[in-house]
Amino acid sequence: MANSKYAYVRSFELPDPLLPGTFMLFRLDGHSFHRFSDQHEFKKPNDTRALELMDHAAKDVMTEYPDIVLAFGESDEFSFLLRKSTTLYNRRESKIVSTLTSLFTASYVMHWPKYFPDFPLRYPPSFDGRIVLYPTEKHIRDYFAWRQADTHINNLYNTTFWALVQQGGQTTTQAHATLRGTFAKDKHEILFSRFGINYNTLEDRFRKGSVLFREEACSNRLHRLFFKVTYNSQIPPKETNDEQRMTEEPIAADHPIPNEDRPVST
Ligand code: ATP
Ligand code: ATP
Ligand code: MG
Ligand code: MG
Ligand code: MG
Ligand code: MG
Repeated sequence: MANSKYAYVRSFELPDPLLPGTFMLFRLDGHSFHRFSDQHEFKKPNDTRALELMDHAAKDVMTEYPDIVLAFGESDEFSFLLRKSTTLYNRRESKIVSTLTSLFTASYVMHWPKYFPDFPLRYPPSFDGRIVLYPTEKHIRDYFAWRQADTHINNLYNTTFWALVQQGGQTTTQAHATLRGTFAKDKHEILFSRFGINYNTLEDRFRKGSVLFREEACSNRLHRLFFKVTYNSQIPPKETNDEQRMTEEPIAADHPIPNEDRPVST
């Protein structure tokens, strides 16, 4: 049938190769997880079961694809770094994005009952995926610093927000209003003086996200750790707001980017 009179439609499929010699950064993000987390009664601000399930699915993806050297997760998203030299699926973008996204989703669903034994899925979750190409290691470092700054900013906001609601008795509308225009130091102050919470003692996972990397010397085992945060929350923010502070001190500046020329053991 390959040469049937219908086969010409195949020529409408356009090639979508990704530029060679560039780092591939694949990121996926839960579709409408605001609703999904609501419908599945995630604990606010951070449901550890859900974060661990994300880590598990990410680990499955890394196990299947040895060309992924590093991954970073927060909230409903995960980022995966593929080595520059990867020839995975001849670097065809839609093939890579769709396969990795569906593998992650399948793993998330498959392992759901392990993390939520008393709460069956109400409907199938989905994730979107994309690949961005970066030419240099600096871009990769800045990328991960950017995601981790996002983790920090969101978590500081969410932690303060939910303290105001859960412990402070405010409505969500009131809590948003309370936080409007506040700087990081104001949120630290609200947490500490009103709720006795020292932000810096909260779980690393919540404040910094989770990192998966491949330990090459040790039979390709996957590990999880937290980036060391060099982001200095003690620096007074002057006229900057949280949004602008994201572009300040990079967080993962001292984290080694896996050496491109070193083969990954399998
Ligand atoms: P989109 O489809 O555009 O991504 P979204 O509703 O998924 O929309 P996000 O910006 O991705 O929006 O935010 C994900 C939301 O999911 C968070 O704001 C939070 O409400 C919820 N969420 C995700 N993971 C957790 C978790 N581990 N614990 C509690 N809430 C979570
Ligand atoms: P690729 O990843 O390139 O798609 P593939 O192994 O999935 O590789 P396909 O050309 O998509 O190759 O073919 C799918 C194969 O899966 C079929 O050739 C057949 O062997 C098997 N298969 C799929 N569905 C069925 C089914 N319902 N019953 C029996 N075999 C099936
Ligand atoms: Mg989003
Ligand atoms: Mg989302
Ligand atoms: Mg998200
Ligand atoms: Mg197939």
